[in-house]
Amino acid sequence: MKSSSRGLFEEAKKYMPGGVNSPVRAFGAVDATPLFISEARGAKIYDVEGREYIDYLLSWGPMILGHSHPAVIEAINQAARRGTSYGAPTELEIEMARLLVDAFPSLEMVRMVNSGTEAVMSAIRLARGYTGREKIIKFEGCYHGHADSLLVKAGSGVATLGIPDSPGVPRRLAELTITLPFNDTGAVRSAVEQYGDDLACIIVEAVAGNMGVVPPMPGFLETLREITSQHDTLLIFDEVITGFRLTYGGFQNLAGIKPDLTCLGKIIGGGLPVGAFGGKKDIMEKLAPSGPVYQAGTLSGNPVAISAGIATLKILRKGATGYDETNRRTSLLCEGMKELFTKGDIPVCINRIGSMFTVFFTPHPVFDFSSALRSDTKRFGSFFREMLANQIYMAPSQFETSFVSFAHTDEDIEKTLAVCKRALYRI
Ligand SMILES: *Cc1c(COP(=O)(O)O)cnc(C)c1O
Repeated sequence: MKSSSRGLFEEAKKYMPGGVNSPVRAFGAVDATPLFISEARGAKIYDVEGREYIDYLLSWGPMILGHSHPAVIEAINQAARRGTSYGAPTELEIEMARLLVDAFPSLEMVRMVNSGTEAVMSAIRLARGYTGREKIIKFEGCYHGHADSLLVKAGSGVATLGIPDSPGVPRRLAELTITLPFNDTGAVRSAVEQYGDDLACIIVEAVAGNMGVVPPMPGFLETLREITSQHDTLLIFDEVITGFRLTYGGFQNLAGIKPDLTCLGKIIGGGLPVGAFGGKKDIMEKLAPSGPVYQAGTLSGNPVAISAGIATLKILRKGATGYDETNRRTSLLCEGMKELFTKGDIPVCINRIGSMFTVFFTPHPVFDFSSALRSDTKRFGSFFREMLANQIYMAPSQFETSFVSFAHTDEDIEKTLAVCKRALYRI
């Protein structure tokens, strides 16, 4: 019998909670059955039924070069032939660290880990250990992975499920996390007045991507830099999505702001499980074994994963025109959609930066989590299902980011717009 996504999903639910290993994959927010994927190449992804889709999810961000890029696959193969893990240092780790330090003016040293969650969790511990303080500030709708301190008003996955704080997170730990509205400098000023002396850090997504795309307003990140410096509080940029997504380096390169610590993930692993955090030397040297703040990992700096990351970064480093072209195509897509929605009399707010975008089904501007929540999620669901039925795979929630890769072509964009045009009359 031929496999079907529906059949596999029923089978998967017998063995895994909700049938998936990460909640957002279950398509719950869009009232659909997840596609089971068999392979992916370039801008295309294929389900087990053999259908081809133009992929704007791109594994939630990592696959900026498109899927199965030959140079990345070759690097993985070559590394694997030399053994898959040694639990000992390799030259590859120096090469990776050097690439990251050279790409980010604020990085002097880095530590490699296995996921974005681990990067952020460790950076927070380091900030607390370095400052000797316990409280942290984060912003509503920003997601920083699922570590206990950070699962408070944490955007997409959680917002979609309608769980403000997860059971299992100790209240006394959550109380150390202060959440403020994104883009609200006034709220930051008063919170820092109130808690300044006990604030270890402020952590922020440089561009919010986990409530849908919400760029920082001019002056917001600058204000965070200024206030944290005044109070000896560390500023942490979570660039797990934006690292190497908008330019070679992070959003901080474009904004000209140097955070104290930066968290990375997604793209730097080239599609394998990798994260990293880094910053100034005097802070990073507080980490074990050079300092007392403990952090470790059996597979950290894994040679196969790091090889995929290095191969990806080396292509991106030469790829200024790749970024320009991809951003131009994303703009073409978003401008085209805006025109179609306007003609179809469907109010939307399309937020885009570089090759990241979200179509919010609301007539109002979206600049923080509350304004994102005013979107018509039912209508988003119908839009998503219409697109998917016509082989366009977008991020499966109103509060997520869709991405364009270097592998997408003008033809892919035109096809997507043609499908969008027909979808409008059905939603
Ligand atoms: C994806 C993401 C994370 C978590 O990374 P994982 O690899 O999923 O653990 C953290 N921060 C941001 C901004 C992310 O988008």
